[in-house]
Amino acid sequence: MTPLTLLPHNIYRRIIYQLSLEDIEIRRKIILIYLFSSIGFGFLFVFGISALLNDRNTIATATLTASAVTLINFILLLATSNHARASYGVSLIIISVSLFLVINGGVSNTGLLWTYSAIPLVLFLHGHTRGTALLVLFLLASALIMYIPNDMYAHANYPTALKIRYIASYIALLLMTLVYEYIAHQTYERWRKLSDLFAAQARTDVLTGISNRRDIVEKINYENVRAKRRGEQYSILLIDIDHFKKINDQYGHDAGDVTLITVANTISNALFQRDLIGRWGGEEFLVILPDTNPDNAAQAADKIRTIVSETVIEYADQQITATISIGLATSDENYTPDIYIKVADNCLYNAKARGRNRVSSIFLAD
Ligand code: GH3
Ligand code: MG
Ligand code: MG
Repeated sequence: MTPLTLLPHNIYRRIIYQLSLEDIEIRRKIILIYLFSSIGFGFLFVFGISALLNDRNTIATATLTASAVTLINFILLLATSNHARASYGVSLIIISVSLFLVINGGVSNTGLLWTYSAIPLVLFLHGHTRGTALLVLFLLASALIMYIPNDMYAHANYPTALKIRYIASYIALLLMTLVYEYIAHQTYERWRKLSDLFAAQARTDVLTGISNRRDIVEKINYENVRAKRRGEQYSILLIDIDHFKKINDQYGHDAGDVTLITVANTISNALFQRDLIGRWGGEEFLVILPDTNPDNAAQAADKIRTIVSETVIEYADQQITATISIGLATSDENYTPDIYIKVADNCLYNAKARGRNRVSSIFLAD
């Protein structure tokens, strides 16, 4: 039987705090919103005060209102952590200010220069599809504002050369940023898929395809927390193939591998959907039966034992049969998972001593 190592109990906490790639992406967004809000608030406020001192009252009202809304958006994000709403808040502010600047023109029509800053920000916050849609809408609205005759509606007077160059340069910057954003998104997706693949590989036993020891240890710790919270009992089965060495010796190592795979599959198929299985060591498996008392666990264990013993393993014209011995332990609120595994290991030893191909929940005191 595999020597018992102590289970890392803080692993559950570690899983919760481990940041996934998605979390990192969200954190980046939040940082950008804070950054934009701080810089945006500073600029708008200074411009607002300067406009106020120079009696440019329309610009002063618009920029000071925008700085106040930026501040409110910032505080709301701090208070609620709702980054999706804050993203829309930021985009709404920057697009509204940009539209205002297109209408007003700012000092000597230089207001247009500030409108470019919306491009990278909106694309980053909303992704290429929604971001482009928002920016194209803005550009259409701006073009409309610029080309409406001034006698219909009072707005800044832009020379034709400036209008054309503004629209063309806006489209050029939008396209370049879009390509950059698209490439960054593709790279992120590739990383995410690779990261998922590596995470799955790190949890899987290569031979049998079931959970490896690391994964089943995490799951038993998780189940322990879950069961305690719900006031439930759970059971674990430590399963060892009987005289496995003989199977290897008689039929060869490859036949031994096929036997291991078949036994793992047979046990997995005999379990309920919610039950969990992992390869504990060479020819040992650990099964977790959530919300299962000792009687039900004994029934489940005996069902598994019977099905395995009745399964014929075909390998290169040979027919191999294998039996398993099972040690059973059920949780008790005073103990921890490593104690249950120790108990199951002791019971497994007992099942072996009593002749194998059986289930035991009898703990042999040392
Ligand atoms: P017992 O009934 O007491 O459990 O006897 P046993 O022969 O099953 O136990 P023992 O621990 O003596 O032997 C286990 C064997 O399992 C020895 C080892 O070579 C073999 N084994 C461990 N991992 C693998 C594997 O991945 N593939 C194969 N083919 N054999 C393995
Ligand atoms: Mg063994
Ligand atoms: Mg064995």
